[in-house]
Amino acid sequence: MTPLEAVNHYFSIAADVCRLSDSTRQVLSTPEREVRTEVPLRRDDGTLEVFIGYRVQHNNARGPFKGGIRYDPSADIEEVRALASLMTWKTALVDVPFGGAKGGIQVDPHDLSKLELERLTRSYARSMRRDFGANLDIPAPDMGTNAQVMAWLLDEYEQLEGLSPAMVTGKPVALGGSPGREAATGRGVISILNEVIKDHESHPGETTVAIQGFGNVGAWAAQHAFEQGYKVVAISDINGAIYSPNGINVPKLKAHYAQAERLDGFEKAESISGDELLALATEVLIPAATGEVLTIENADSVNAKIIMEAANHPVTPEADEILRDKGIHLVPDILVNAGGVTVSYFEWVQNTQGKQWAEQRIYDELRHTLTTAYREVKEVAETRGCCLRESAYIVAVERVAQAAMLRGSV
Ligand code: NAD
Repeated sequence: MTPLEAVNHYFSIAADVCRLSDSTRQVLSTPEREVRTEVPLRRDDGTLEVFIGYRVQHNNARGPFKGGIRYDPSADIEEVRALASLMTWKTALVDVPFGGAKGGIQVDPHDLSKLELERLTRSYARSMRRDFGANLDIPAPDMGTNAQVMAWLLDEYEQLEGLSPAMVTGKPVALGGSPGREAATGRGVISILNEVIKDHESHPGETTVAIQGFGNVGAWAAQHAFEQGYKVVAISDINGAIYSPNGINVPKLKAHYAQAERLDGFEKAESISGDELLALATEVLIPAATGEVLTIENADSVNAKIIMEAANHPVTPEADEILRDKGIHLVPDILVNAGGVTVSYFEWVQNTQGKQWAEQRIYDELRHTLTTAYREVKEVAETRGCCLRESAYIVAVERVAQAAMLRGSV
């Protein structure tokens, strides 16, 4: 199954439960609009290189299109379509008034200088200026992009279209970004984990955690897990993994990583492979790197008891079945990583109100939003006797279908 087929597979299960008509299914599973654009970049050596960028606007029945921008060689149209559709279900699940979209440029940002990255971002913003807008389509950071990239995107857009801070979220706080946005996805992962382990009658002190990925989501999830007393025993990035059965001091690891730009060489930790990390016998495994890392090939070797899908679609549907047969408790991506879009919504509200919220209010409302969504998903799962992924899709699809029906668009 392609990533989009996988998302639509779960959508169909929910559509059956919600008794949606064939035409409604077709409208809700098809992206509303897709833009493919050339993104020319003048390299530092004077040569011109053309990259391909996309923006897929999946659905806006519940509010403006919303979704991140990914800079990664894997950001092809198939992947971006799948991610745009996931955004529609995610925003509906946490009940923020947005639709779903995703954008990307097929580029490895590590191959670009800082000036090249800025020129590439401005070039993309120029070609997308008619498609973005505070009440139309609101981008945010994703893999390979960050607050600085959002600042360039905003600046280029505003130079062309006039002041509009709410047209992008995840921007630096000094430009109207929200306190807490950068850490929001990782913070959200651990907020939901707290609820999950409460339901397992466990507590952080006796819970070991392995995390795949040490970028924005993985590093903040690790930090919050550490601060809240979980024992983070293994962490990986694209170059490998480290393991320490007594627990990794995450703030110290962050300092080491900032200097060495690698995980290995960290005090008292043993180097292991990324595959070994996925097979560790921990209470919790958090894939927080990229999609399709647990597949039919390796799902059987997973030994964790709980999987928190912090990345988007890290588990293929075939692997999902294997993991469930093994009795592993899977908490789905559209719930687990929704903290980012939730605080993006708070950022958009603050920009629209022209008023910054106190940091504590953001944390409290984030926890409330995610906990409410988790409890709703759990209740539907218990009532219907289905897994959390199916119940998450049921809640989300029902909300989007209702909005589309009320608009008369289905
Ligand atoms: P990032 O670019 O900041 O970090 C990605 C990390 O994954 C890096 O540490 C990289 O080395 C590592 N990595 C990549 N491939 C790997 C592999 N095969 N094995 C091990 N590590 C690998 O990206 P991010 O923003 O942290 O996003 C990670 C995931 O979370 C993506 O799936 C993204 O769509 C999803 N997500 C991100 C946000 C957000 O707010 N940033 C919100 C929701 C979902």
